[in-house]
Amino acid sequence: MSAALAESLAERRLQLPGGVLGPDGRCHRMVRVRELTGADEEVLADTGAAGASLVTRFLARVIVEIEGLQRRVDEALVWDMLVGDRDYLLLRLRQIDLGDHVHQVMRCPSPACGKKADVDFLVSEIEVRRAGELQASYRVRLGEGAEAIDALVRLPSGRDQEAMASLAPRNPAAANTRLFSRTVLKWGEGGALDEEAARALPLKQRSALAAFLERHSPGPNLYLDLQCPDCGADMGTSFDLNAFFLPSAR
Ligand SMILES: [Zn+2]
Repeated sequence: MSAALAESLAERRLQLPGGVLGPDGRCHRMVRVRELTGADEEVLADTGAAGASLVTRFLARVIVEIEGLQRRVDEALVWDMLVGDRDYLLLRLRQIDLGDHVHQVMRCPSPACGKKADVDFLVSEIEVRRAGELQASYRVRLGEGAEAIDALVRLPSGRDQEAMASLAPRNPAAANTRLFSRTVLKWGEGGALDEEAARALPLKQRSALAAFLERHSPGPNLYLDLQCPDCGADMGTSFDLNAFFLPSAR
């Protein structure tokens, strides 16, 4: 691949940490985005729709081109982008158009304390994991010895995130069941898994699968490792990208 031009925030040319695979299997990473307007902000701020579909609608408007990909950028394409690539574009657009500095006020979760804490960080300091060679699917051995099983899996897309969205807050295990039923293409000698089969898997294999997806998914690390400045309680949290994008939302 010719590394023609590097990422440039000033020129609004961003390099996806994962990438989009073309019909010929080539990976396209360079994305051009346009300047945001109030109309774009309104799309993201719509409280009547779910997070992943807002992000899809928003990015389909804002991405001008995926360089080298002979295909118009529409919502179908954005749905199929990797979760971490979608997050990355939100993050950099926030940085370019609203500034690098983020200030949030959070409350200590310890009932004995409950004090407010100011949280300040720079978007540019958020760690981004970049993929080596992106593949449409990965062959992975889960477990050890006689219990090991070979699976063929793909990395989660925006569409998978959307399918899990209603389950994730109230039951993360059920969300994983759904995720596995969508992202496992082949399990052992068999084919894909339906939800019932994904639910019936031994916990050991499920956790190995979750760890594989976690370890191989490119994108920004949205986990903030924080302690309460008053009592030292753990205030670690994953921040909500949609809300954090908009200074007026909170
Ligand atoms: Zn505290």
